[in-house]
Amino acid sequence: MKAAVFYEAGKPLKIEDVPTPEVGPEDVLIKVAACGVCRTDLHYLHGTPTFKKPPLILGHEASGTITEMGSAVENWAKGDRVLIPAVLTCGYCDNCRLGRENVCQRQEMVGNNIDGAYAEYIRVPVKDVLRIPDSLPLEETSIVADAISTPYHAVKNRGEVRPGDLVAVFGCGGVGINVVQIAAAAGGIVYAIDIDDTKLKLAKKLGATFTINSKDENPVKQIRAMTNKRGVDISFEAIGIPDVMSQALAVVKWGGRMVVVGYAESDWTVSASRIMYREVEIRGSLGCRPVDYPPLLRMVEQGIIQIEPIIDSKRPLEEINEAFKLLEEGKVLGRIIVIP
Ligand SMILES: [Zn+2]
Ligand SMILES: [Zn+2]
Repeated sequence: MKAAVFYEAGKPLKIEDVPTPEVGPEDVLIKVAACGVCRTDLHYLHGTPTFKKPPLILGHEASGTITEMGSAVENWAKGDRVLIPAVLTCGYCDNCRLGRENVCQRQEMVGNNIDGAYAEYIRVPVKDVLRIPDSLPLEETSIVADAISTPYHAVKNRGEVRPGDLVAVFGCGGVGINVVQIAAAAGGIVYAIDIDDTKLKLAKKLGATFTINSKDENPVKQIRAMTNKRGVDISFEAIGIPDVMSQALAVVKWGGRMVVVGYAESDWTVSASRIMYREVEIRGSLGCRPVDYPPLLRMVEQGIIQIEPIIDSKRPLEEINEAFKLLEEGKVLGRIIVIP
């Protein structure tokens, strides 16, 4: 099969012919329909180590159809349309038993611990795949596996956004733009912050009440002024830049909450006394739990969460390295999806 293989940081992925994976008794083989191009992959290209040593097939945001099933697989058929969650969970560690599978202590990330979906086919355990409702388009729905599910968990379970809450979202990239639309759908009054007016325009279209271009204006001053010095109930940092994290913390009201969704390659310094004195919570947010997918897919089916405007473009797998370049340059509006 054709695949885009990662060999080494700093080098482009190589499109090559590799063996099609063989299914074990409890696996399914999936013909990949599309895979979203995520910033996480850029981190590997910048040198963040992957769990499986290269050569590795990256790509963790995919949809497709089942083409082969292991001998023990029941209740699925060839041709079934499925979503592959970005993270596969063990089901029996402490956190899995507590219903916090997204922080499974033995989790395996697709395109990190195991080969991913920048390929014609991918093999995954059947217990992890999710059925895609008939009404949803197969290729576009791929982005639900990370770009939509990660923000959903961040907004619902970590941010705990309630109707009327003031919410600041720093960064309107693939993840941030969906934090905006899901926080707005949850009834939050959203301040969207980015350095790109095109992304802010999309944020507005998807439910942001206010937008701030942080290249032109200081978002901390701006939000303080707009909220009568109160600050927001909840802020989300969705880009992974330490200076932006400081801004996201600075706009939280006394007793408010900050959620870290962006992955930063370097450390971030915070004032401990400020956390203590203002009783501010800082929470991390990672992926989502399997139980979050059904309500989330219902929201997509009903158009409460929109996926079409989030698709920047569809490109053949051969253009994966150009897609990374555009992502790195900040020129992607939402998500590029590649079609193997
Ligand atoms: Zn991702
Ligand atoms: Zn587990």
